[in-house]
Amino acid sequence: MFKYLKYFFAIIFAHLFAKNIPILVTLCVTHRCNMRCIYCYGHFYDRKEPDMSTNDILHLIDEMSAAGTKYISLNGGEALLRDDLDVIVDKIRAKGILCHLSTNGLLVRHKVHLLKLIDSLAISFDGIGQANDLNRGQGMYPRVLDAIIFLHEQKIPFHTHTVITKNNSMDIGSILDLAEKYKFQAQFSLCRVKDSPVKDIGLGDDELKVVVGKILDYKKQGRPVFFSRHAYESYLSWPFSYDIIKVDENGNNFSMVRRRCYVKRFSCHIEPDGSMYPCIVLSGKSHSINVLSAGFKTAWVKIIQNPCLACYNICCNDLNLVFGLDYKSLRNALGIVLARLNREKKA
Ligand code: SF4
Ligand code: SF4
Repeated sequence: MFKYLKYFFAIIFAHLFAKNIPILVTLCVTHRCNMRCIYCYGHFYDRKEPDMSTNDILHLIDEMSAAGTKYISLNGGEALLRDDLDVIVDKIRAKGILCHLSTNGLLVRHKVHLLKLIDSLAISFDGIGQANDLNRGQGMYPRVLDAIIFLHEQKIPFHTHTVITKNNSMDIGSILDLAEKYKFQAQFSLCRVKDSPVKDIGLGDDELKVVVGKILDYKKQGRPVFFSRHAYESYLSWPFSYDIIKVDENGNNFSMVRRRCYVKRFSCHIEPDGSMYPCIVLSGKSHSINVLSAGFKTAWVKIIQNPCLACYNICCNDLNLVFGLDYKSLRNALGIVLARLNREKKA
């Protein structure tokens, strides 16, 4: 609980003293992956370029801690493919920093001791049977379901992450049924036709609105939807086509966007080669600065000057609402944390 309080008070402190602090860092530790999802925007299954070394990452964690980081989110590719992930997680814990891990679930049974040390765990899951496998590769559904049941039996708290495409947009209710059975929350994000490498599975503007409206209805019914109501409502109130993914401070129509971005003021994203971006949405799409050559703090001070100030990305909106101290989103986040701690206590 103490680490969550430190995280929350860091946000309050940043507001009170009008500071920019990298309170949360998403750290992509590898681009390698052992799955082959049809929508993978990075073609991570074929990537072989070297990742940051163990020493580089350990040094980086020291620099993040000194800069005020209270939450590190480890992702990939598939982060569990790194043999040194236990050393990285130990270092994060030794610094008193919250540690989140995103995984595709295939290595869960081999890494159970490591997973028990993680504060927050997300596992990718795209639906029941073919709904999952049409997105994530044939034969993956039984393996991911096995991982979900295993985590449930081990009493390791987790939530799922689903990317909605045309293959699984009818499966949201079934995913929530499974969530209720195995006591997890389900997080949903969307695959737009324009972003998808496979155009016929992506959703157009009207379809996106229908799907998000459906998720919002489930949330209102008290079903275990991970993101807050306001995050989905912000998505629906985006005043442009979803082809416009972000608005810059000097861009046309900026005045039409009601909520401004705290995400880049209180967080950043780092790629496996050390490139820092303001957030995961802008990864590979905007100017970056390498933390290995510039140092974390220098890179952070420069990267925050990016003019991007609003977007509709649901994950970023949910985080933005928490960073912006939105009451309903904070209450949603608190409910998730308390459920997680309660489950850990029972384990
Ligand atoms: S699990 Fe993630 S990184 Fe791996 S192929 Fe699928 S979308 Fe890409
Ligand atoms: S508005 Fe969205 S895309 Fe822009 S910096 Fe913030 S989180 Fe990133």
